[in-house]
Amino acid sequence: MGGQAAVMKQVVIVGAGFAGLNAAKRLRDERALAITIIDRENHHLFQPLLYQVAMAGLSPADIAVPIRSVFAGDANVRVVKAEVQSVDTDSRKVRTDSGDFTYDYLLLACGAQHTYFGNEHWEPYAPGLKTLSQATEIRYRVLEAFEAAEKESDPEKRRRLLTFVVVGGGPTGVELAGAIGEMSRYTLARDFRQIDPRQTRVILVEAGPRILPSFDERLAARAMRDLESLGVQTWTGARVTDVTPEGVTIGNERIAAATVLWAAGVRASDVGRSLKDATLDEAGRVIVDEYLNIPGRPEVFVAGDMSRALDENGRPLPGVALVAMQQGIYVAQTIKADLRGKPRRPFRYHDLGQMATIGRSRAISEFGRLRLTGLIAWWFWLLVHIYRLSGFRNRLSVLIQWAWSYWTFGRGARLIVGKHWRSYNV
Ligand SMILES: Cc1cc2nc3c(=O)[nH]c(=O)nc-3n(C[C@H](O)[C@H](O)[C@H](O)COP(=O)(O)OP(=O)(O)OC[C@H]3O[C@@H](n4cnc5c(N)ncnc54)[C@H](O)[C@@H]3O)c2cc1C
Repeated sequence: MGGQAAVMKQVVIVGAGFAGLNAAKRLRDERALAITIIDRENHHLFQPLLYQVAMAGLSPADIAVPIRSVFAGDANVRVVKAEVQSVDTDSRKVRTDSGDFTYDYLLLACGAQHTYFGNEHWEPYAPGLKTLSQATEIRYRVLEAFEAAEKESDPEKRRRLLTFVVVGGGPTGVELAGAIGEMSRYTLARDFRQIDPRQTRVILVEAGPRILPSFDERLAARAMRDLESLGVQTWTGARVTDVTPEGVTIGNERIAAATVLWAAGVRASDVGRSLKDATLDEAGRVIVDEYLNIPGRPEVFVAGDMSRALDENGRPLPGVALVAMQQGIYVAQTIKADLRGKPRRPFRYHDLGQMATIGRSRAISEFGRLRLTGLIAWWFWLLVHIYRLSGFRNRLSVLIQWAWSYWTFGRGARLIVGKHWRSYNV
């Protein structure tokens, strides 16, 4: 066994997100490889459904799967829960808070985090949505705001408690705003005695000229109408200039709001900064070549949200799950080709379209020239997300909960647990 291990090539995969997990799954049948997956979390997270946890539609366990359980049957795959701090490409070492790991091949796929564009002190008052703990924090905050409003007799204070501002008009912002609108109008209206759902104010703030800029203009306009029907006001061309415990300032206007959520802008993982051979773009992404390598290091791959690769037309690929998944699979294929002495082929992204949901029976989808809206787009959205979820248990659980919510407008995960706010506005 020891002799066998000595000739095995060491593959280190940092990050078990969409890129890392898919690479590891495609490599685990290679007996000539010893694979080490390093992640600071113990689970793979299906981020596209995070907003459903934040909005009490699903429970954390429905959209995450322990990394160890995925590879429980693969003796050549080791999972290490550790935080990677830097990479030394000369000595081929990954440095973590739990020691160093040597590699023959390295895949860096640490993803991205949200950014406040130099105003990081806003974070306690306007949390972003990237991890399960952030989702449960947001759930806590939203539900607690409704509870406080139910007890509040001062109309002005109650208005502040029932004002929700979502900053950022991309798919995540739209999904969050739509879900708050729907929850207040349909689910909570039945549960509370004092709250009039019409008092709930949801404002979606976007600095650019329109929401959903990556979508066709007509689809974005339809999404805006769908949001309106759920009571969401959309403010475009509106830049947030301050966030405090009392609310937000947009231009010169102050909005008293107990809950502000941040869905504007992401910055790539800081791990990329430690690569001395690499160049970063303005969003901190590592610029990679068509083989997803950094200059002069064919053994180092960077994939997913933390890398910047170009499509055939020279445009940067978007930070979406499909890009990360395809890149992870590509890296595995490239390593396999190396092992067999075959030439490497450049990465090509196959764009399968994009979609966003606004609420029950409301979504938009774009597949090439095909544009879908309303119920049919929503069904597509549902099926694609169930299909892509990791693990049969999660698929079944999500399917049952969605079916239940569809008929009842219920949100089964409406639990307020653990007050873990660093700074709580209510
Ligand atoms: C709320 C939300 C909604 C989204 N909705 C959609 C959608 O509908 N459709 C879509 O296509 N895309 C969506 N995305 C984007 C999509 O989730 C990302 O593009 C995708 O997750 C990127 O995959 P990745 O493998 O690069 O990184 P991630 O999936 O982010 O995985 C990175 C992994 O690295 C780990 N990690 C990070 N830093 C370290 C470190 N220093 N040490 C060790 N481990 C580390 C993390 O714990 C994580 O497991 C959404 C993203 C968010 C946040």
